Amino acid sequence: MLFASLPLFAFNLVIDPGHGGSDRGAYRGSFVESEIVLKIADKLKIELQEKAPAINIFVTREDQRFIPLKDRVQLAHDKQADLFLSLHANSSTSAQVSGMEYYFSAQKNAPVFLKSKQSAEVAQNSPAIVEAIRNDLIDFGKTKQSLEFSKRIQTAWAQNEFGRKRSHTSKIRRAPFYVIENTRMPSVLVEVGFISNQREARKLITDEYQTELAHALTEAIVDFKEKSDK
Ligand SMILES: [Zn+2]
Repeated sequence: MLFASLPLFAFNLVIDPGHGGSDRGAYRGSFVESEIVLKIADKLKIELQEKAPAINIFVTREDQRFIPLKDRVQLAHDKQADLFLSLHANSSTSAQVSGMEYYFSAQKNAPVFLKSKQSAEVAQNSPAIVEAIRNDLIDFGKTKQSLEFSKRIQTAWAQNEFGRKRSHTSKIRRAPFYVIENTRMPSVLVEVGFISNQREARKLITDEYQTELAHALTEAIVDFKEKSDK
């Protein structure tokens, strides 16, 4: 557990629907990223409240309002989130590309703890280095758990009626997106599909598909929480 001061089994989740307001994200005609991810976030919140009432849910935006990236990260820290889930939709210059993508932090500041044998020796003399090592350990835990959570979503989606057909296109990746790079807890950014792919975009705006996406995310979150309870 990253936050030892929290009561046992409390689990705080931040859901972050990307973009909002004048920032529509990716769009093609009536297929608009900021609207699609808001609807999925709503459905996810409702399903989680029903199936996992012990999870405290916070959402970075619940309407079409623009929220700066740093405020989204701030909310996650203020609420001492155990898990941060950002929702986005993708676009590509190729109309053929489709599928889900799960991103976790690229950790540009690679842990010195893992690289340097000397750091443990120097640490005895320097509070700054002790602090650096502590932060590296947090980053290491974050990276490991973010990957773990990504795999859980991928698995849940591969078992889903819709996801099963397209599971070969679902990929786990690393990228320095602001929200997953700057949060200190396990954080994953999910690209739910490609707006630039007509077939996928048409599915993404349907209630049924959004509900199935929310369902797969719910399963992954509940799995992840249960593992962190142990
Ligand atoms: Zn986006």
